Amino acid sequence: MVRRRESPGYPNVSDTANHSLLDAFISIHVNAGGKGAETFCYWRYGAGGRLAASIQNPLVYGKSLGFGRYGLLKNGIRVKKGDEMQKIPIQAFLADDIISVEGGKNLEQLSQARKKDHVFEITNTAIERVPVVKTPLFSDLQNNFLASLHREVLRIAKLENAGKEVALVTTISFGRPIKVLGDEHSVNIEQSSPVNALKMNAYMGELVVAHNHPTTRNFSFSDIGVFVIDEYIATLSVVTNQGQVYVMQKSADFHYDEARQLINALVDQYELLDCPEDEARQEAAAKEFLKKTRKVGIWYGTSK
Ligand SMILES: [Zn+2]
Repeated sequence: MVRRRESPGYPNVSDTANHSLLDAFISIHVNAGGKGAETFCYWRYGAGGRLAASIQNPLVYGKSLGFGRYGLLKNGIRVKKGDEMQKIPIQAFLADDIISVEGGKNLEQLSQARKKDHVFEITNTAIERVPVVKTPLFSDLQNNFLASLHREVLRIAKLENAGKEVALVTTISFGRPIKVLGDEHSVNIEQSSPVNALKMNAYMGELVVAHNHPTTRNFSFSDIGVFVIDEYIATLSVVTNQGQVYVMQKSADFHYDEARQLINALVDQYELLDCPEDEARQEAAAKEFLKKTRKVGIWYGTSK
């Protein structure tokens, strides 16, 4: 381990790393603005990504540190070219609330603003007829598992939650899912301890989250926000109480920053922060996002 401070006298930490024989290079920064922790790595699905996840998970979900949802694992930091060293600069933001204001809180406000829509009754026919959506990230077997998950969502919503929202959270191996019950217009998986425990043992992009909409609505704008921000979720789906299915998946070329920029641009364009009660605006913004998913590396598909 070589330790160096970033200062005018020691301007190039990565250069030092490049001239040392190292298995891993870890750099920790404290920034002046923001709240939460970010861990960057070169490629989040490789060995470096797993090491980064093992650092990031306790930062975000650990009891003592608990940066909460304001954690991110990002691709794209390269310290040294063309060798086997794992590169993981960590960035810890501590000073204020910037990230929570930009990210979480606004989306929560928006989700709370959703009106009490009509709750459609879930019929056994709707459950039986839930279609299989052929998503590109999954094998046929996994796509069948996803359809079974949707049937299970509807069954639980019908029997245990009066048709209101239910989320089932599992991983890409489709083990026994975690159940989270919600109300007529939202279900909050980010506050669920069993879901956070699942994340502790999961890699980035491993979670599959399925939930029902009691109405016939597609993804809400806050669904889209959670999907983009939560780096554990690579597949998010909605099954309506009448059995339509909508799915989003993060592709290998998912661009976090561009997806966030698109969200921010839509928040501005539809003046969502000035009109948090205006559901039509949120719906229009969500619709617009779903038209542009391909540009930010998100696959979006439906059963229709
Ligand atoms: Zn939703």
